[in-house]
Amino acid sequence: MAKTVGKRWTRRGMLAAAGSVVGLLKMTEGPGLAGAALQRAPNRNSAPSGLKITDMRSVLVASNYDYPIIRIDTNQGVYGLGEVRDAGREGTALVLKPHLVGKNPLAIEPLLDSIRNFAGQQRLGGGYSAVDMALHDIAGKVYGVPAWRLIGSKYRDQIRCYCDTDQSKDPKVFAERLKKRKAMGFTFFKMDLGTSLVADREGAVNTRRTATEKGLGYLCEYVQAVRDEIGWDVPLATDHFGALTVNDSIRYARAFEKYDLAWAEDMIQVGHLGPGGDAPKNWRAYQELTSSTTTPIATGESLFGLEEGFQAFIDNRAVDIIHPDPLTSGAIRETKRIADYASLHGVQVAIHFAGSPVGCLASVHMAATIKDMLAMENHAVDIPWWGDLVTGPSKPIVNRGFVTVPDTPGLGVELNEDVVKEHIRKGGYFAPTPQFDDYILDRFRLGGPYPHLDENGRLVNK
Ligand SMILES: [Mg+2]
Repeated sequence: MAKTVGKRWTRRGMLAAAGSVVGLLKMTEGPGLAGAALQRAPNRNSAPSGLKITDMRSVLVASNYDYPIIRIDTNQGVYGLGEVRDAGREGTALVLKPHLVGKNPLAIEPLLDSIRNFAGQQRLGGGYSAVDMALHDIAGKVYGVPAWRLIGSKYRDQIRCYCDTDQSKDPKVFAERLKKRKAMGFTFFKMDLGTSLVADREGAVNTRRTATEKGLGYLCEYVQAVRDEIGWDVPLATDHFGALTVNDSIRYARAFEKYDLAWAEDMIQVGHLGPGGDAPKNWRAYQELTSSTTTPIATGESLFGLEEGFQAFIDNRAVDIIHPDPLTSGAIRETKRIADYASLHGVQVAIHFAGSPVGCLASVHMAATIKDMLAMENHAVDIPWWGDLVTGPSKPIVNRGFVTVPDTPGLGVELNEDVVKEHIRKGGYFAPTPQFDDYILDRFRLGGPYPHLDENGRLVNK
């Protein structure tokens, strides 16, 4: 406690009190660590008030999708890792570099506010999201706390995962693939169910290339085969239906009602919403679908931000489940905001994810803090070296269908440089990025000199 003389606080006493508070802030989370942390000297690896961002660099990892991983460096050796959405480009984050260099990375929300207008739907949410992760990694390391502690408390110590399972035209082979997932320990399942599965069967598709009643019957055979293998006591979600109109999606969803699906995902992605548009902004179409079936309806993997992407879906009960991908939706802080808003309005949350272990662990920190978490995707369980890309988390990272929430500072993940270098798509390993030193993407910015008329009507250039 602080020492006092009479009722006056001495300067030394106040400093001692401040030191004990700092020591508490720098405590590493985890069972039984509080006492040890109190006995340790405060972490002086970083002096927060003098901390400045000095650089941002990237490495592009070639995997099932390309993983654009970024690193934000500081003047005190502390750095943060982040990741742009799978199959996105590192430039989405690197164009933000001049907006960040020279700033204190611990001012997380002001910094994110300053770059929010440069984020968009689909992969264009990836730059903002990568920066969010890196800032939480830095702040967690500086304060000696896991990233999840920076945004709230843990609702769970492990995150339940599901993995997408590619389709096979043979229902038996398809069901066998899901059975293997169950043998790996997974307790939540998802299967692709594209119309392409039945498109070459007589009378199965109509002129819109969507399933007829007969075709829907064939598609149901696949779900039945999977249910026969994995049972009815585990959640089973479906995805990748192809281009459906609202009416078609209602027919599909109703046909699958008898299989008690966990959800049907992204049923209305393209078609009348615009060619190539996998960022459905049309919540009214989803509201019509959701209110027409008992099959739970999910969407959201291409949406960024609460106000920009999710709020209309939640306010209007247009879906039963939102399905943000943190590498598009705004990563740790914004996805927590989105999930809290959804919980408040009785909409459930599942997490889409298809990137590297860096983005995976960042998403796990976020997922630990949200009230309502059905499951989080992992798209790389069949890639043997996926977990080797990093050190830090216990291995395998996805263990019997669950990822343990780290209690180590920051994201709790470091790149394994040797393994990453074996899988670079192109470019170097965090090579210098001077081409991004100046503003490329910006709002109104005064520069000059500008030619203009002065108060005497003379053309001047200043
Ligand atoms: Mg999907």
